Amino acid sequence: MKPAPFEYHRPASLAETFDLLDRYGDDGRILAGGQSLVPTLNMRLVTPRAVIDINRLPGLDAIRATPEGLTIGALVRHEALERSALVTEHASLIAMAIPHVGHAAIRARGTIGGSLALADPAAELPACAVALQATIRVTGRRGGRDIAAADFFRGIYTTALEPGEIVTAIAVPRAAAGWRWGFEELARRHGDFALAGLAAGVRLEGAAVAEAWLVFFGVGTKPVRARAAEAALIGRRADTDALAAAGRALDGALDPPGDIHGSPALRRHLARVLLARVVSRLAEEGS
Ligand code: FAD
Repeated sequence: MKPAPFEYHRPASLAETFDLLDRYGDDGRILAGGQSLVPTLNMRLVTPRAVIDINRLPGLDAIRATPEGLTIGALVRHEALERSALVTEHASLIAMAIPHVGHAAIRARGTIGGSLALADPAAELPACAVALQATIRVTGRRGGRDIAAADFFRGIYTTALEPGEIVTAIAVPRAAAGWRWGFEELARRHGDFALAGLAAGVRLEGAAVAEAWLVFFGVGTKPVRARAAEAALIGRRADTDALAAAGRALDGALDPPGDIHGSPALRRHLARVLLARVVSRLAEEGS
């Protein structure tokens, strides 16, 4: 199918972008990498009056190390994240996750801002943003707002973005010493959206888990931080008993969807498998 006719705008500044967003309101759609928007246009699932292509906006495609951590512009493409030594050094969780995002052709165009703004519950980068305790910078005519990733994702394809705002960057704070990061997902085929996935950070003291952030994706309406499972691990070695206790705690925290790809029971099971795999690996690496 071909998209319904639309006007195409390519603003050269944020001010021009905000003018267009004001002019078209709900009838205007931001285009970044187009890897999600273009298929939905072609299938006529969305029929906006105007497409507002932000690829020419200056300054949104840089990855910068700062004293506080790492700032990644919204237009940084997945492929650039994959190749960035700064990302590998300061946000290794993102470096681990990126090869799982679609296929090479999709990563060549898709952007981090697009992934965050889209808020697909099975996407890798929103879960990484929550696990890294990152901040999403959104900008509108009245200025910028920094929103904790944990508050940014509200539900399926729903975020804290207000009308007239766009995502301009993500800031990943420098992790305190001792944190180790792990990422794993289970999908029918490599490159498919995950049936279940886990972005995790663990800090050990000796052989015991001192802190943990376990953020699951594909198993809810948004990235799910499994606080009860984290609590079941704190102060314990990540042995079979502790992992089983964390797995039981996880069951109560997840309400996964069922669809043609997998039932809720399958997704719950996969989440437990991922928890045991990732946490035991991190504990082993740290000991
Ligand atoms: P676009 O498609 O341009 O936009 C997506 C949405 O976000 C639109 O509604 C747009 O208006 C809005 N938007 C974009 N940028 C901004 C911004 N800066 N501020 C506000 N709103 C904005 N993704 C995964 O995470 N994991 C996968 O496994 C995966 N597999 C895929 C497989 C296929 C076959 C395809 C076609 C896509 C897949 N994707 C996957 C999606 C891909 O990662 C997209 O790149 C991503 O979802 C959106 O990024 P984009 O830059 O292409 O955004």
